[in-house]
Amino acid sequence: MPETFKAILVSRDAEKKQSVAVTDLTEADLMEGDVTVAVEATTVNYKDGLAISGKAPVIRRWPLVPGIDFAGTVISSSHADWRKGDKVILNGWGVGETHFGAYAGRARVKGDWLVPLPQGMSPHDAMAIGTAGYTAMLCVIALERHGIVLDRGPVVVTGAAGGVGSVAVSILSSLGYHVIASTGRSAESPYLIDLGAAEVISRYEPAKPLAKERWAGGVDAVGSHTLANVLSMTSYGGAVAACGLAGGMDLPASVAPFILRGVCLLGIDSVMAPKPVRMEAWRRIGTDLDLQKLASLSTTIGFDGIIDAAHDIVEGKIRGRVVVDM
Ligand code: NDP
Repeated sequence: MPETFKAILVSRDAEKKQSVAVTDLTEADLMEGDVTVAVEATTVNYKDGLAISGKAPVIRRWPLVPGIDFAGTVISSSHADWRKGDKVILNGWGVGETHFGAYAGRARVKGDWLVPLPQGMSPHDAMAIGTAGYTAMLCVIALERHGIVLDRGPVVVTGAAGGVGSVAVSILSSLGYHVIASTGRSAESPYLIDLGAAEVISRYEPAKPLAKERWAGGVDAVGSHTLANVLSMTSYGGAVAACGLAGGMDLPASVAPFILRGVCLLGIDSVMAPKPVRMEAWRRIGTDLDLQKLASLSTTIGFDGIIDAAHDIVEGKIRGRVVVDM
């Protein structure tokens, strides 16, 4: 009898009604790939919440095992870069969207999609960072490349109590920035101050085309009015790294910050980011993120808690990061 492992499977019926079930799979059920990994840790990202709840069309192949990221150990490989026993991380590349994902005991993927687990980091640590944290690092790198260095002034982080936001606050404060954390949950102020925020502000509603200059740069995980406000208050020559849409996919802004203050909007995508970009982000996470802070911003659940956590994250009820120990 082939070995079975637990998996979450999202299916759709003839009326396109989505259902989610826990099932047993074998390696023969997995999709094509040249590396098979024992999944040791995964996480629940906002996108996983959208996939499991069906609130947005994240899943584009049916049925599908969701879960956009994992860390684990290679069980078998025909890829030149990977051998049995290697510790690896996967983020994105359509895994959990068009390719069977992380919410299963085993995953079979393309070896080109994997990066090595950084030295000194456990699979659990890597998933406490997860795609949200790796994306936060991509945002920080983008701001640095744009010249948003410490003496340019404060940086704002929106959706600060969420996954991307919490890691961005941690990294930026560890690097010495004056971090302004923007949150809709004022009760999370002490948490954000502990992570290193110098100031906590509440979410803004509809933006003016231009407002008083308050920060040199920003990391925005929210979109919509929030991003419009961040842009309107970015100082001359500043930049905002936009990676998320937790508040909406629209951008009700004016061109005023771009044409009157030379502000730049930096788009951040983690899913298809080329391997050297990923390697650099994970290397920087290894050096710039305080692992003790990481522990304080993450909660651990088991496989059985994934579906509930997925619903909670799209309702804005999750603080920081959720790690799943498989
Ligand atoms: P979380 O749910 O953990 O965090 C999102 C935060 O946004 C919430 O905690 C909340 O912060 C804020 N928020 C939620 N709903 C609203 C709302 N209606 N209006 C304003 N603010 C709101 O999600 P993640 O951090 O995992 O992901 C954040 C976003 O980044 C998502 O849209 C996700 O899809 C995107 N993302 C994009 C990636 C990319 O490659 N571009 C990669 C990873 C994530 P608070 O309570 O502090 O206000």
